[in-house]
Amino acid sequence: MSTETPTIEKTSCIFCNIVNKLENTEILYEDDDICVFRDIKPASDYHILTIPKRHIDDAKCLISSDKALVEKMLATAKELLTKNNLSIEDARFGYHWPPFRSVRHLHLHTIAPESKMGTIAKMIFMKNSYWFASPAYVVSRL
Ligand SMILES: [Zn+2]
Ligand SMILES: [Zn+2]
Repeated sequence: MSTETPTIEKTSCIFCNIVNKLENTEILYEDDDICVFRDIKPASDYHILTIPKRHIDDAKCLISSDKALVEKMLATAKELLTKNNLSIEDARFGYHWPPFRSVRHLHLHTIAPESKMGTIAKMIFMKNSYWFASPAYVVSRL
């Protein structure tokens, strides 16, 4: 009989691999439902991604039973800002809106300070644009 422990295989989804600790990504926060790590291309001094551990393609795929999950994602991101002495007021939060998305695994961008974002970053993560949706808008659809 084999005594080998089952190995978790890498998937094509990089964020699922991060959740499963298959990437060399520093996890800033995690619990049973969510995981937080730094964006590899920071748009300001502090730029984190908050993701659900369960694979969800994007914000359009969310259903009403996911409401508590997305609310927890935002609350956790805000807590991390506070812990890092960053202002929640001077921060930008949002989700890519399909078909405009980078990685196909739901993630909440949190960027602070918002006032230090460059012109291109402001375009990519433009407030209430049709490619970058606010957490309030995402929750309002559920
Ligand atoms: Zn995934
Ligand atoms: Zn993104």
